[in-house]
Amino acid sequence: MSGFIEGENRYQSTLFPERVDDYVDEDSVVRVIDVFIDRLDISGLGFKAEAAETGRPGYHPRTMLKIYVYGYLNQVHSSRRLEREAGRNVELMWLSGRLAPDFKTIANFRKDNGEAIRLVCREFVMLCRKLNLLGDTLAIDGSKFKAVNNRDKNFTRAKMKRRLAEVEASIDRYLGELDNADQSAPPEDTRSLKDKIAALTEEMDRLKKFEVRMLEAPDQQLSLTDPDARSMKSRGGGIVGYNLQTAVDVKHHLITVHEVTNVGSDRRQLTRMAKQAKVALQTRSLNVIADAGYYNGDELQSCEEHNITAYVPHPATSHNKAKGLFDRGEFHYIAEDDEYQCPAGERLIYRFTREEKGKAIQRYWSSACPSCPIRERCTTGKNRRVSRWVHEAVVERAAVRLAAKPDAMKIRRATVEHPYGTLKAWMGSTHFLTKTLDHVSTEMSLHVLAYNMKRVINLIGTKQLLEAI
Ligand code: SF4
Repeated sequence: MSGFIEGENRYQSTLFPERVDDYVDEDSVVRVIDVFIDRLDISGLGFKAEAAETGRPGYHPRTMLKIYVYGYLNQVHSSRRLEREAGRNVELMWLSGRLAPDFKTIANFRKDNGEAIRLVCREFVMLCRKLNLLGDTLAIDGSKFKAVNNRDKNFTRAKMKRRLAEVEASIDRYLGELDNADQSAPPEDTRSLKDKIAALTEEMDRLKKFEVRMLEAPDQQLSLTDPDARSMKSRGGGIVGYNLQTAVDVKHHLITVHEVTNVGSDRRQLTRMAKQAKVALQTRSLNVIADAGYYNGDELQSCEEHNITAYVPHPATSHNKAKGLFDRGEFHYIAEDDEYQCPAGERLIYRFTREEKGKAIQRYWSSACPSCPIRERCTTGKNRRVSRWVHEAVVERAAVRLAAKPDAMKIRRATVEHPYGTLKAWMGSTHFLTKTLDHVSTEMSLHVLAYNMKRVINLIGTKQLLEAI
């Protein structure tokens, strides 16, 4: 066809460039991967790197690591696809020196070097710190990622109860139908019903065995495909998976620290993540912003003790407000008198201290309540009682701090949305490919390393990054 750009005839002899290097751009990402991994202290990081003295030598961990990092940067995560790419992708050939390990070798490398791979991710964060790309304010957030465990293969006490009840109800229904069947009907007419009852009885036995295993587990939960995956609440409902915790730098949206956990709640994660971030940034103080899911008095206190300034909003859950009564915020604490002033101007005085859920709680009330003219707006009991944690000053300071930084939640949202959106888009609909917390953590570290590497290249360019390495 004329009038279009025409390609070469594939049967025509041509002289290709002699060097594989000629196929790779000067500013290609593979050059960054190559130099970064070549500079790593492979055995110091704990990679299993023993040269064979006899027999067939194995692949060097650097080669295997390069293949993996390239794969995760290009959304090629499975070992079988990496094996295929290593044999046909020019950039990967350049990177691996045209070595093409089989998929089992590739998969085993990720399986056997989890801890070392996680440390490589940390090495890159250290490089980011040296490049002055990380600031002193981080947004801490968690997001749920799906495990390779179908929801039907996960059992909690509630789910098990429901499933057992469903099966029992079905058995009862079929038994009833069987009773109602004409006694004189030939046996083949009732065979289908009997088969259904037998199958359901078998299912009941199977569920009962799972129930025993489930009740033996410390958290009374059982996942059949991935034993570490847990059922957890997520924005779109519930999933069976893992909770990824990240501390993301506000300045450039780089993931400073991350941790995969199978605890669904964020309530106890704030200080742990912030302390890890302090180590990664090698700093004595740090600012962290998190959403209301992280709000916990003990955590705020622990942050203060570790020189971590936390901005966390109080979850808006006031039972009194919901009932149309004065909110707790309308009672003002007078520190010098250790008393509260109520909306009627009366003083609530200290009465006693008692332990509630492991916390020392002080109680305050006024003797003026029974004769108060606005009592119906305040309490349904005889006196309105106000509770105060002995370390309440910590949460009061946190509230004042947050009020002085009104854009904190906006900053948090803008910071964490970027990495989570990118990671989930890269991981596709299935999220994790491996099983168990250990292997899933390794997989996530490769994703985080790829994310950070791509982000830094976008920020400063390949040349500057290569020079810095
Ligand atoms: S009921 Fe008691 S605490 Fe409430 S406003 Fe009246 S005096 Fe104050």
